[in-house]
Amino acid sequence: MPRDHEAMLWEKLDGQNVRCNLCGHRCVLSAGQFGLCRVRANVEGELKTYSYGALVAMNADPIEKKPLFHVLPGSRSLSVAAAGCNFQCEFCQNWQISQSPRRSGVVTGQAVSPGQIVTAARNYDCRSISYTYTEPTIFFEMAYETARLAQAEGIRNCFVSNGFMTELAVETISPVLDAINVDLKAFRDETYRSVMKARLAPVLRSMKALAQAGVWLEVTTLVVPGMNDSPQELGEMASWIASELGPHVPWHVSRFHGDYNMTDRPPTPMATLETALRLGREAGLKYVYCGNVVGRSEESTRCPACGQLVIERVGFSVRSIDLRDGACGHCGEPIEGVWE
Ligand code: SF4
Repeated sequence: MPRDHEAMLWEKLDGQNVRCNLCGHRCVLSAGQFGLCRVRANVEGELKTYSYGALVAMNADPIEKKPLFHVLPGSRSLSVAAAGCNFQCEFCQNWQISQSPRRSGVVTGQAVSPGQIVTAARNYDCRSISYTYTEPTIFFEMAYETARLAQAEGIRNCFVSNGFMTELAVETISPVLDAINVDLKAFRDETYRSVMKARLAPVLRSMKALAQAGVWLEVTTLVVPGMNDSPQELGEMASWIASELGPHVPWHVSRFHGDYNMTDRPPTPMATLETALRLGREAGLKYVYCGNVVGRSEESTRCPACGQLVIERVGFSVRSIDLRDGACGHCGEPIEGVWE
């Protein structure tokens, strides 16, 4: 088990009790007790994290894989993770590393420092570092320290997150965070409670706070048959993104394949994904993408004004880019994103 490390964003309560203010669970912990993530614990009246500097994954991925389609297209992003998550999604695709502290009672990982992560990003010619695969909020201290060092070297920082952060966490990370993809997993609180063991409202709050803080935001929804796939729920979700975050926010609707504890249902039918794409466009969203299905035209970015192809993608590869100074190369319409 890695050594403990001083945690950020917590407060002392009565006696030796502490409250963690990192994620929406806001765990109140007595001495010796672990939080719901099973990564942070009260050690003699001080909150500690056990995942600092303990990596379980490091890969140079195309940034399209995050997915972040409007951030440095065609570039590589050093993708890192530590063990643990504050959610317990029944369909988690990375459950071996996200749920390992909860399932085994220990936090494992290979010792790597923030400075070494930044050096690796440079060596692998990555223009950004993505904190991903598990929940970056849960390895906040390592992500924050790495992001500070990376920013000083001109390397961008991206989170791929469930968005269950407190506003204090958003406020703290925003100055060093360039972009985030938030998984909006449903638009029903009861689904968040029963399937994710979390709640919807903190996710919506933090997405608004991230947008207000100027962090580039993209949203992904894995469309799960029988869980979040009704036209009404998908339509409400799309309308909320358009009205509360802005019509320029890309929405990725992704195809579900059974995993972890949810292998009882088929992959998302193409007709359902078509409906989600249509509802996104009808809600006024300018950029709606289809994920986990290779060979669809909805993998590419079209200019919302003239309809010309601006970024052509096939799978995680970028075939062509027709952007000039952040605008459509054909008609000059501004295309929102982090292009340089
Ligand atoms: S990060 Fe979330 S789950 Fe973990 S201790 Fe803090 S409040 Fe609890």
